[in-house]
Amino acid sequence: MKIIMLGAPGAGKGTQAKKIAEKYGVPHISTGDIFRANIKAGTELGMKAKGYMDQGLLVPDEVTIGMLLDRIHQDDCEKGYVLDGFPRTIPQAESLTKALAEMGEAIDFAIDVDVPDENIISRMSGRRACLKCGATYHTQFAPPAKEGVCDVCGSELVLRDDDKPETVKNRLKVYHEQTQPLIDYYKEKGVLHTVDGTQTMEAVFQSITEILGA
Ligand code: ADP
Ligand code: ADP
Ligand code: ZN
Repeated sequence: MKIIMLGAPGAGKGTQAKKIAEKYGVPHISTGDIFRANIKAGTELGMKAKGYMDQGLLVPDEVTIGMLLDRIHQDDCEKGYVLDGFPRTIPQAESLTKALAEMGEAIDFAIDVDVPDENIISRMSGRRACLKCGATYHTQFAPPAKEGVCDVCGSELVLRDDDKPETVKNRLKVYHEQTQPLIDYYKEKGVLHTVDGTQTMEAVFQSITEILGA
């Protein structure tokens, strides 16, 4: 089962992708998490990505596509995966389609988590992230048991630099210009499904499982 999550920054792609990965037993692959892990480890890839991420811009396709294609060719991806944050541009989508076609494969489901821009800024300002294990919380909608501390690994939770309102505005602009066209791209391929992302996390997941099947 090969799944793509589409939607604005903060729509809940990561939250839902983790639940899908757990229920269906496929890896959750987040390009944002891969970049952040590389920044933390001080790798060359991380250094290339950081400046773009801090400004709310996309990391160039030359860097991102190769990284993602390497990842989906690893052994744990044999039964499928859920991609969170990739593709984000038409060239990224075309590269993925082509790489899969070479193996006689294709994306099975593209799930668009639909949330209007008005809701996004408050979602993002309440998001708290664990940079150690990738867990995500929300001060209001999904608080950790102990304020500021990750339930999973006990590390400190942070407001990501790029979740501050000025940067979120840039990211939304980039989303509308470069990523939203993917909705039509996957509609034409006949694999697009839209869910109402303004529902509770549980209700969104229920809608997704109805699409994917039990
Ligand atoms: P969110 O989950 O809030 O949408 P991500 O963690 O997916 O944020 O992405 C954070 C940042 O990492 C993006 O703003 C962008 O700079 C970079 N990034 C992640 N995925 C991609 C991608 N597929 N192409 C280009 N840049 C990406
Ligand atoms: P994305 O990966 O699309 O950027 P996240 O899954 O990280 O989005 O969610 C953004 C923030 O909103 C997080 O703090 C998360 O806990 C919260 N969130 C996710 N889904 C919902 C929802 N359905 N209702 C309220 N808050 C949500
Ligand atoms: Zn953690």
